[in-house]
Amino acid sequence: MKLHTINTGLFKLDGGAMFGVVPKAIWQKTNPADANNLCTWAMRCLLIEDGNSLTLIDTGIGNKQDEKFFSHYYLHGEDSIDKSLVNLGFSTADITDVFLTHLHFDHVGGAVIRDGEKLIPAFKNATYWSNEKHWQWAIEPNAREKASFLKENILPIQESGQLKFISEQDNIEWRKGINIGFAYGHTDAMMLPKINYKGKTIVYMADLLPSVGHLPLPYVMAYDMFPLKTLNEKQAFLEEAVNNNYILFLEHDPIHESCTLQRTEKGIRVAETFNLSDI
Ligand SMILES: [Zn+2]
Repeated sequence: MKLHTINTGLFKLDGGAMFGVVPKAIWQKTNPADANNLCTWAMRCLLIEDGNSLTLIDTGIGNKQDEKFFSHYYLHGEDSIDKSLVNLGFSTADITDVFLTHLHFDHVGGAVIRDGEKLIPAFKNATYWSNEKHWQWAIEPNAREKASFLKENILPIQESGQLKFISEQDNIEWRKGINIGFAYGHTDAMMLPKINYKGKTIVYMADLLPSVGHLPLPYVMAYDMFPLKTLNEKQAFLEEAVNNNYILFLEHDPIHESCTLQRTEKGIRVAETFNLSDI
């Protein structure tokens, strides 16, 4: 098995929304905001090359929305999903599986592209993986979360016949060396892949822990549907992670790709940060 980081570009989100109840005077020391109170975040996907399978975890924001939509998110940086795949010698047609942690637009936007008037899967030979509970939650969204679940990112996947569901069972073995954890605070039934790699466990954190800045327990995004559930899930996960020396792969951290953890007087905090290619 080989893991490759797939950078799909940077975007901006409101710093206050990203840090929930934490005051700006505190979070801006590590995540400086611009004049509009926006901070920069990554959309970092992961490619798992294993035998004949090439699995992409999450897909970034994509490029099919209109200018007005993108004007809210200030996309920047040189990377795109296509470029990052080409740099590794792959094309979108080579992807055999697309694993969607959840269906918020910054995770699933790149899964579907525009083809003239039509919307079609960006990865024409891939099976797309979600779970039934989250899928139902996303296609009939509540008013608070509706702006994150865009029908044009989601429905074409099902219409193509390329969608499959993973059964919702915590720590289920999805593939050899890949188990799936479930979390319910950020959104209903978000999936977190745990990958055995070079004798270590790499966990794709999705929105359970967007960045190292979110390690302290009360640092929970205002975007989360059930913040106290996130807090409890994060606490349990961090204990498990520090006890088992997990490597955390951070989808949204603007600087740090991965980290390990250690216990400190203040709680569980970052030990080292590094890139997957350094392992
Ligand atoms: Zn999300």
